[in-house]
Amino acid sequence: MDFSLSEEHIELQKWVHEFAEREIRPVAAYYDETEEFPWPVLKKAAEAGLYSIDIYLQAHQDPTGLTLPIILEEAFWGCAGIGLALFGTGLPLSAVAAAGTPEQLFEWAPKMFGTPEDPKVAAFGVTEPQAGSDVRSLRTRAKRVGDEWVLNGQKVFISNGRYADVYVIVATVDPELGHRGQASFLITKDDPGIRPGKKEKKLGIRASDTSEVLLEDCRIPGDRVLGGMDRLEQKLDKARRGESSGRSSAALRTFEMTRPSVAAQAVGIARAALEFATDYAKERKTFGVPISRHQSIQNHLADMAVEVECARLLVHKAAWMAASGQPFNKAEGSMSKLKAAEVAVRVTEQAVQVLGGYGYIKDFPVEKWYRDSKIYTIFEGTSEIQRMVIARALTE
Ligand SMILES: Cc1cc2nc3c(=O)[nH]c(=O)nc-3n(C[C@H](O)[C@H](O)[C@H](O)COP(=O)(O)OP(=O)(O)OC[C@H]3O[C@@H](n4cnc5c(N)ncnc54)[C@H](O)[C@@H]3O)c2cc1C
Repeated sequence: MDFSLSEEHIELQKWVHEFAEREIRPVAAYYDETEEFPWPVLKKAAEAGLYSIDIYLQAHQDPTGLTLPIILEEAFWGCAGIGLALFGTGLPLSAVAAAGTPEQLFEWAPKMFGTPEDPKVAAFGVTEPQAGSDVRSLRTRAKRVGDEWVLNGQKVFISNGRYADVYVIVATVDPELGHRGQASFLITKDDPGIRPGKKEKKLGIRASDTSEVLLEDCRIPGDRVLGGMDRLEQKLDKARRGESSGRSSAALRTFEMTRPSVAAQAVGIARAALEFATDYAKERKTFGVPISRHQSIQNHLADMAVEVECARLLVHKAAWMAASGQPFNKAEGSMSKLKAAEVAVRVTEQAVQVLGGYGYIKDFPVEKWYRDSKIYTIFEGTSEIQRMVIARALTE
């Protein structure tokens, strides 16, 4: 057992931290205020190699699994909204890596990222107005018409929904089969019948785009179904015969493997708040002494520090389990997401408290971190859903 980071990991951490400190933090308040998409930061990240397919390849090849958690913690320490703009494309990329053919991954991954001169982003569209946690209830339909697929439906809350060049859209092919009748489709923004709808105004992570995506007789070639037509036919046939496809356990494992990455983002926000509150407490004086000398403030800081460490340990353990092929018998991936999300909300709230009135106003960044943190108990599986997954793993 060795908890120390390797030299490569320390180098990587330093590199991303410097990028976050130089390029992300200074503009975080601007993008939070304006809700513009941070294209200039994305371009700089692409030029630096931080926004690239290579980063994900490097992460995939790291036997410790720590590459992505390290990168994400540092980037989101800078700003979670900008972080999501930079790393949101990782979600559709994971979907193609998990369910697509090698040829699809090879063809579509470069389209998702573009080039450093002309970077692109991609989006993953599952959620609908009536189906968020309950993904079995998706109403978006994909019908086979001749050599094409025709999709109709409404996706909501889609990260990068307004700006994506490539969309991975989950739709129902056979509604009678519930979630087993669903498939994912590769769509470009130039295909006929797909367009962004309403852009959401949000509590936090306001630099990232969250938009509706509308599919109105969207026509795409037949080979755009993830995994290919033959695999889809086999899956549907099995489902019609009532045979187990193994898909659900494969999908659950994929979720367990990707959740530590989401959790690492939340750790980044929590750490930012802990560091800021600690520095502030050493400077701010009341009753003639720095507030860091008051027992109550010490309790806040100590609890915050312990919680951040706990969350990071769970994240690193789950990421290592994913990389080394360990079974997630206790849903450790979900544990890391649940813990880190709730730590981020609690720690940022305590940071506001440590700063007092200054925590509540926009001259200081902690009120933003408090707002940013809340999404982590909601997206990528709410805290309630994570608890359900963990309890099932323990009891079934
Ligand atoms: C900023 C933002 C970005 C997003 N990005 C994307 C994206 O890129 N792609 C995408 O597809 N989606 C995205 N989402 C959607 C997000 O994943 C969903 O909002 C989330 O899964 C919750 O679904 P819901 O909003 O429909 O809530 P609901 O499912 O309606 O849940 C409402 C409440 O009921 C609880 N609940 C629901 N079912 C159960 C149950 N069985 N047991 C116990 N409690 C339950 C929930 O935990 C929650 O507290 C994003 C959302 C936001 C806000």
